[in-house]
Amino acid sequence: MKEPTTTAAAASSSTSASVDPQPLPRPKAIIIGAGVGGTATAARLSHAGFDVEVYEKNEESGGRCSLIRYQGWRFDQAVVERMR
Ligand SMILES: Cc1cc2nc3c(=O)[nH]c(=O)nc-3n(C[C@H](O)[C@H](O)[C@H](O)COP(=O)(O)OP(=O)(O)OC[C@H]3O[C@@H](n4cnc5c(N)ncnc54)[C@H](O)[C@@H]3O)c2cc1C
Repeated sequence: MKEPTTTAAAASSSTSASVDPQPLPRPKAIIIGAGVGGTATAARLSHAGFDVEVYEKNEESGGRCSLIRYQGWRFDQAVVERMR
């Protein structure tokens, strides 16, 4: 009996030989805010292959988990926000 000329393996190998695979561009993600939420999301998206940019309005990251420094003292950001 005659062998089939187009098996799945043969089709697959002929396709890969004729196609020049181009790497796909990394999808981009922009995150506003470097609090815990933004930072964790940035890490997860980066791990998943995204090109991530994080924009933070303050000089320090951390959001409500960060600190305010004043005359050698350190205050929780969230507590100071509540005093305003
Ligand atoms: C007193 C207090 C105690 C807490 N204790 C605990 C605890 O023990 N355990 C716990 O799990 N959670 C605790 N929490 C909750 C926890 O701190 C918050 O849920 C968490 O920090 C929120 O993170 P977030 O990233 O969602 O928001 P945020 O921390 O508010 O971050 C948002 C970020 O976005 C930035 N941003 C905002 N607008 C812009 C803009 N237009 N452009 C650029 N950047 C911008 C801000 O500057 C900030 O850095 C506490 C909260 C408070 C207030």
